[in-house]
Amino acid sequence: MLDFLIAFVDDHLRLGLTGDEAQHLDEQMRHVREALPRIRSYSAIIMDRITPELAGREWYTLRCPDCLKWALLAEGGEVRCLFCEARWEAEAFVLPYAVEVLEHSWRDYRKTGPPTEDCPERGAHALIDEAYLAAAPEDARQYCFGCSTEFQGLESCMRCTRLSQPADGPTICNDCLGDLG
Ligand SMILES: [Zn+2]
Ligand SMILES: [Zn+2]
Ligand SMILES: [Zn+2]
Repeated sequence: MLDFLIAFVDDHLRLGLTGDEAQHLDEQMRHVREALPRIRSYSAIIMDRITPELAGREWYTLRCPDCLKWALLAEGGEVRCLFCEARWEAEAFVLPYAVEVLEHSWRDYRKTGPPTEDCPERGAHALIDEAYLAAAPEDARQYCFGCSTEFQGLESCMRCTRLSQPADGPTICNDCLGDLG
């Protein structure tokens, strides 16, 4: 992130400046570059401190939308980052995860609404169709931040479109099954 910022300043901001402004920016950037090793080691110190706390919780650990570290714990219905200490309500977490971590377009969601689904277990409106857990960082899972459960292969109910565990034959959720009597 810092490397990106520095490159951005060099490539974009610096080019438009001349004279005193350019000199001032160069001075500021020199301070930033000097501070980099300290900032990096600070980050390593925090990671060292939180690594034992994350150990064994790989199925509840995701990347944080704020700091992008694999330090976000979604456990017991709580969503909090051990690295940057950001916290979210389970239901409000899906959108920042999709936009910042999955890099989906914010604009698309303004039209369609956040990509938040109902959980087939307890009904919390806090499930995302695509999430990556530290235990299997390459495999997309479906994850409910309300009950901190990961799912695989949920399909839309053919009657109400809510995600549901597929059975043999057409997928129908338990609620709809109940309605149909
Ligand atoms: Zn964070
Ligand atoms: Zn759930
Ligand atoms: Zn249904």
